[in-house]
Amino acid sequence: SYDGPSYERILETRKTHLTPNMLAHFKKPLVIHTGHMQWLYDHEGRRYLDMFGGIVTVSVGHCHPKVNQALAEQTAKLWHTTNIYMHPKIHEYAERLVAKFPGNLKSVCFVNSGSEANDLAMLLARLHTGNQDILTFRNAYHGMSPYTMGLTAHSTWRYPLPGVNSGVLHVMNPDPYQGIWGGAACRDSPVQTTRSCNCPPSGCQAGSEYYNELEQNFKYSLPRGKVAAMFAESIQGVGGTVQYPKGYLKKAADLVRANGGIFVADEVQTGFGRTGEHFWGFEGHDYIPDIVTMAKGIGNGFPLAAVVTTPEIAACLGQALHFNTYGGNPMASAVGIAVLDVIEEEKLQRNSLDVGTYFLNSLAELQQRYELIGDVRGKGLMIGVELVADRETRAPLATPHVLEIWETCKDLGVLFGRGGLHGNIINFRPPLCISYDDVDFTLNILDTVFRQHMNKRHRSWRTGPKFRGFY
Ligand code: PMP
Repeated sequence: SYDGPSYERILETRKTHLTPNMLAHFKKPLVIHTGHMQWLYDHEGRRYLDMFGGIVTVSVGHCHPKVNQALAEQTAKLWHTTNIYMHPKIHEYAERLVAKFPGNLKSVCFVNSGSEANDLAMLLARLHTGNQDILTFRNAYHGMSPYTMGLTAHSTWRYPLPGVNSGVLHVMNPDPYQGIWGGAACRDSPVQTTRSCNCPPSGCQAGSEYYNELEQNFKYSLPRGKVAAMFAESIQGVGGTVQYPKGYLKKAADLVRANGGIFVADEVQTGFGRTGEHFWGFEGHDYIPDIVTMAKGIGNGFPLAAVVTTPEIAACLGQALHFNTYGGNPMASAVGIAVLDVIEEEKLQRNSLDVGTYFLNSLAELQQRYELIGDVRGKGLMIGVELVADRETRAPLATPHVLEIWETCKDLGVLFGRGGLHGNIINFRPPLCISYDDVDFTLNILDTVFRQHMNKRHRSWRTGPKFRGFY
């Protein structure tokens, strides 16, 4: 049972002593004090199904017994060596982790967060290529450090720092749902976008249209047409589960390499079996990146992140000292190994594919009944549902409506996230251990809440013009 400070005291401390950037979801924010697998418990003993996994972080389940045990055993033996002495765990873990990669991705540097991992990837790309400019997509999220804030391309996540855009070019997002090209069958998902396609009957052109657009940057914007790197999430996470047209990333990687750069896959959200079919999201795009960055699910909630690259690219870190006090510490390494074990032993990648595909198909059925579902997309247990005011224009559902839906689902016992510039995309990133029953529970709640919402909307229409501005 809960024995912490009162709810009011927590709110007061938060207001007085924590910096205002601390995100608290919901009008009445939750106090969560216990977790077990896919379940979270608040201070009053209410149970919630966690369909967001602390933003994709809790990969194998809250307080998974095997991960807990590995951590407990390690904390009893050794916490820390600052890497100035060798400890066995980091070596054991490095071997286990790089074995998960294709090609020559054999060197790993451990850090503590996704932002740090992407910072290091930017440094490696610039040192290795001798070029400065880095491309990424509008709508991308790569971190909050001053360096990576420049890569992140949502104005809502950016502060007016001097030089935040220095050496970074945000290129057009190849988004087949909200972008200018795209439509049916463009992307690699068990369900396809409802948007009617403007491509010729011979096949989808979105990939090549967006590719041509990307190519223009080399002609017009980049000095000498050279680039250090391009970064891409394998599916955009914070941006609202945005998937690119099939084949685009592979061609983009070739283009970047032909112009002096390397390609960085940000697998912070899409790694560790999340997308079901593959262990890494980039494998679904049929190319091998030069650097892969990972965080979140790698440690099931323990601060752990990594950069994996080729020995040739890693060699540039020999040019000067580069140090990270906590990176790959014994506890983090023990947790990382246990997470890999659990994913394998409990066949969680397979579960992600099976349960995720069932969830996606069921959501597509729900979409038939509710106009406000503009789009259902994703792979495995990386799923997005875009709520719209109008299916034709794809205008986002207004924030007060999205917030009401979100809050009511929480009150009924299911938690999920919101993404996209307008916050109108429901993001599901549950621990990979969820069951078909958990999906049914979520679908029932969504069905109830969407029905309530549509009833209200019809009632409001009858009350006349006052309501129109809402959507
Ligand atoms: N890359 C991606 C794709 C992310 O989603 C995030 C975090 N939301 C980051 C990088 C940054 O990770 P961190 O918050 O651990 O710095």
